[in-house]
Amino acid sequence: MRPTCRILTHSRSKSISFIGLGRMGSEMAYNLFSKRFTEANDSRFVVCDAIPAATTRFADNFQKQFPRAHITIAATPEEATLASEMIVTMLPSSPHVRQVYLNSSGIIPTLRSLSQADASSTICIDSTTLDVQVGRDVAAEAHAAGGAMLDAPVSGGVSGAKAGTLSFLVGSSEQAFSRASPILALMGQRIIHCGPSGSGLAAKICNNLVLGVEQIVVAEAMLLGQRLGLDPVVLASVINNSTGACWSSSVNNPVPGALPEKSPPCERDFDGGFATALMIKDLGLATEVSKLSGSPVPLGEAAEGIYADAVERYPELSKKDFSSVYRYLGEGRKE
Ligand code: NAD
Repeated sequence: MRPTCRILTHSRSKSISFIGLGRMGSEMAYNLFSKRFTEANDSRFVVCDAIPAATTRFADNFQKQFPRAHITIAATPEEATLASEMIVTMLPSSPHVRQVYLNSSGIIPTLRSLSQADASSTICIDSTTLDVQVGRDVAAEAHAAGGAMLDAPVSGGVSGAKAGTLSFLVGSSEQAFSRASPILALMGQRIIHCGPSGSGLAAKICNNLVLGVEQIVVAEAMLLGQRLGLDPVVLASVINNSTGACWSSSVNNPVPGALPEKSPPCERDFDGGFATALMIKDLGLATEVSKLSGSPVPLGEAAEGIYADAVERYPELSKKDFSSVYRYLGEGRKE
């Protein structure tokens, strides 16, 4: 069995820890570690996940690809923090971020136990999509413990994570942004500084509000067009070359065969991609924050209700890509 991470504070500066090896995190960590290893072959890598099999699978695969690389498994975020001054987290949502950063074996209590020099050299990049205020509060705690923390949620999906073409939407100080940018560039193509702490999350939540609504209307149009006798390939091509063009139609089209040159999740029974449960979470973040800010989101609320009804009626859609809302619409909505 692979040994767990040894606590090597002398090598912290050469080490990167990645916590959360799910659909997105495993692809991001692979790009980050493999490109970093090519740049500097004395780098060290540490992985951590609540599911031990996820870390073992990742570490074994990485070691097979890069036999000379140094990769270890951290049993807790504490071990991951003691091992590395660069820590990337990619978790489902607010409760998981609170747990990983604030629990007694979490990142922030560990930062408090480090020397001032070690704490101040530590930089945490959280790419989770979570509540803006929770993100800001956790970053303030990390800062108070001597470290730096950025919110850097991503856009681009699992395919973008795999290709290393993600967009990072960053909320942080200018100084933290400059330090994190070379690391983010190993996982993404566009790195946008949106403003101070919480700004990356705010931008991400607004983007996913658009996306969640857009995917439903593309499903509606593709279904309606077929019922009017249109070939889905022709209809998708018309939309993608007209004013209705959008990512939900041109990349994530929900009709099998509609994009002959591409392979969206509908070609794999909606497996992979962005889970409907995560879209419900993101629309919930938008509708919650809209109430606090007094900014109306009637379409966002309607979309949240449609995805929620889809999952209630067909629980298996919860883990499927959110474009599976097409299947729900096609099979008839609950009255
Ligand atoms: P996922 O559920 O596949 O992965 C999350 C990982 O975090 C899992 O491996 C889980 O075991 C791990 N985890 C949970 N709690 C933990 C803890 N306490 N300690 C350590 N590990 C823990 O989710 P995902 O699809 O990779 O998405 C991650 C984030 O990225 C979400 O916030 C999501 O909204 C966002 N996002 C996802 C996509 C997408 O297409 N999947 C696109 C853009 C943004």
